[in-house]
Amino acid sequence: RSDMAMYEAKAAGRDALRFFDPQMQAQMAERVALEADMRAGLDSGQFELFYQPKMVRGQITGAEALLRWRHPVKGYVSPAEFIPLAEQCGLILRLGQWVLRTACERLAHWQEHPVLGQLTVAVNVSPRQFYEAGFVPQVLEALAGAGADARRLRLELTEGLLLQDVEDTIAKMVQLRGYGVGFSLDDFGTGYSSLAYLKRLPLHELKIDQSFVRDVLTDPNDAAIARTIVALGTSLGLQVTAEGVETEAQRLFLERAGCHAWQGYLLSRPVPGLAFEDLVLAHAAAVGPHVP
Ligand code: C2E
Ligand code: MG
Ligand code: MG
Ligand code: MG
Repeated sequence: RSDMAMYEAKAAGRDALRFFDPQMQAQMAERVALEADMRAGLDSGQFELFYQPKMVRGQITGAEALLRWRHPVKGYVSPAEFIPLAEQCGLILRLGQWVLRTACERLAHWQEHPVLGQLTVAVNVSPRQFYEAGFVPQVLEALAGAGADARRLRLELTEGLLLQDVEDTIAKMVQLRGYGVGFSLDDFGTGYSSLAYLKRLPLHELKIDQSFVRDVLTDPNDAAIARTIVALGTSLGLQVTAEGVETEAQRLFLERAGCHAWQGYLLSRPVPGLAFEDLVLAHAAAVGPHVP
């Protein structure tokens, strides 16, 4: 490529070729800047948790906490963009701790309320955060610090995480489960988890990845996969929740397949905490209180 300048460098006593691509360098600079912004943003309160309701048989039973970053210049930055970067640079440890604390504070704030007190909160946990030695105490501190009930906290793990160290994963899950914390397997079907591991994991829930839900009505393969996940999860005694339900037709298809729990724009996008509370109370007033 003509825009690629090539430099020869002698490194570590042997000849090495170093490719120097200005476009790549610009990307690198962008990442370094974003990382610095992320650290500053964490210190100055630019991160927020939004909440998306989860619906089970017509009742809102909980929320998934989803991280939002309001960058002073760039505006809203998607977690898809900054979570992987935060993982790479290690900031995910502080960011993850902030998410846990903030979600637990919200949970504690709901606790005495007759309607909101019934809700669970699900928190997404990234692999690096989970594998940190202090992860279990970090969760317990977040709960205790806020005065939140561990039985109302759900942690969402992904299949990729499970493959890294199965014994360590199970040990941590069992420990937290001892306090009442529940576990969900997020984006199920997109990773490589073996069924042998699946049956050993102390899970409460499988979440069908939204990529299967999107075309469930038009793509027979997606329909078959969704049905299979529902059957698998149900026979393992797990709750199966569909992600990314946008239409009533999708919801009906899933319900007929035996999937009675779902999240998606059909009910609500992720919204700020106060808006979420309003939504839950309005919904409860319309359909009657949640019966656990
Ligand atoms: P996820 O945990 O699978 O979350 C579901 C994503 O789907 C969210 O995107 C949500 O806004 C979006 N979604 C929900 N309903 C619909 C729908 O009906 N249609 C469509 N098209 N999308 C829908 P979001 O908030 O951008 O988050 C993306 C991912 O970033 C999450 O996927 C999760 O893996 C990660 N993430 C978000 N918050 C956190 C966090 O606090 N910690 C960590 N480690 N990861 C997080
Ligand atoms: Mg999730
Ligand atoms: Mg997901
Ligand atoms: Mg995910």
